[in-house]
Amino acid sequence: MSPNCIVIYPAEFTLKGHNRRLFEARLRADLERRLGAAGIFVPVRGGHDRLHCNPPPAQLEAALERARHTPGIARLATAIQLPPTAGHPDGLAPLEAALLALARERPAAGRRYAVRVRRSDKRIAATSIELERRFGAAIAAGSDWQHVDLRQPDITFHVDVHPRASYVYCEPLPGAGGLPVGSADPLIALLSGGHDSPVAACLLARRGSPVELVHFAAAHVERARVTENLVARIGARLSRHLGRTRLHILPSTYFDLALSGPPSGVEVLLLRRFMARAAAHLALRHGAGGIVTGDSLSQVASQTLANMASMDAAVELPILRPLIGLDKQQIIALAREIGTFELSAQPYKDCCALLGREPRTRSVPARLAELEALRLADYPALLQRTLNDALVIELEDGRLSVAPP
Ligand code: ATP
Ligand code: MG
Repeated sequence: MSPNCIVIYPAEFTLKGHNRRLFEARLRADLERRLGAAGIFVPVRGGHDRLHCNPPPAQLEAALERARHTPGIARLATAIQLPPTAGHPDGLAPLEAALLALARERPAAGRRYAVRVRRSDKRIAATSIELERRFGAAIAAGSDWQHVDLRQPDITFHVDVHPRASYVYCEPLPGAGGLPVGSADPLIALLSGGHDSPVAACLLARRGSPVELVHFAAAHVERARVTENLVARIGARLSRHLGRTRLHILPSTYFDLALSGPPSGVEVLLLRRFMARAAAHLALRHGAGGIVTGDSLSQVASQTLANMASMDAAVELPILRPLIGLDKQQIIALAREIGTFELSAQPYKDCCALLGREPRTRSVPARLAELEALRLADYPALLQRTLNDALVIELEDGRLSVAPP
């Protein structure tokens, strides 16, 4: 007997009363789409606080990996799924057989175990605790596992007895948590080559927003060579979390060329406002209701409160900054967790770096607006030209492809 399903326990949306079905449907649809993108074509079924799917054995691990990154899941595991226990002629025997199959596969020497039962099938007379005792004894009698420890077990065997099916598993993995993508309004995230912005985009996808990405490149990126572009590769990696999405690569070259006058420490701030406006245009086009950045308060001179307020003042859409109160170590830990750390650690020539000079730490929106009129001729045309040159990359399941122009 070996695992034949993935059992999935949804995250916090179980708390949302009558909306629960809607959240569940979103999670199911999102999961099916992600599995399909990986060539795993199976329905995701269930309800009542757990979902499951039955990929062929050879695809079980790949499916687990996809589900692990999908927002809206608290825990998940490969499991042995069995038909309903109540009324089954063998009673609990199949559950014990499944437990023994899992127990015998795992080294017991010097290790302690526990059994946890969740019994939502109330047709079974025994309580969860009685079942735990019974299954615990069955494991001790039929395998090398001898030492029970309910407080700090090395391994916990889980039995979930539901009216429609039972699931036997151990070593569940933590899911991504949060809410299924589609539960919140879409967002446009400003993505750079650094550690911060991929984490910011991922965190908001985990709050249920479909997130599209926009990057400003220091030079035009050639269509044929886009797979070599580091930010495109970061975007592809992010798609494992965000689901199917797009990256718009815009050139910052027109901005650089248009910027006149001697450097005065406001250039990066003008570029930030330009980025915000371009992102706002894309948001309008794609029905997004806000912009995301990887800013963290006072991390660098451009991220003082005053400078962020100056960026905010350039657009009407809200700018969300999920990393605002985190320090670099916390952000790096998240980047490692989501798998973007190694890519973001590679050298990349960001367009901001080309603007030189440390920005001023205190800016005033009205003054920046004056400077924009003075130093950037024909702003609307500049913005339009930049947007017209967008290279759009399709991202899904860790892969990237160039969208037709
Ligand atoms: P990160 O680590 O994400 O690169 P950073 O430490 O380099 O950020 P800044 O350069 O000040 O910080 O950028 C702040 C935010 O502005 C980034 O998190 C990102 O959201 C946005 N941003 C910066 N550069 C770009 C770019 N070239 N294209 C798109 N967005 C950018
Ligand atoms: Mg940063």
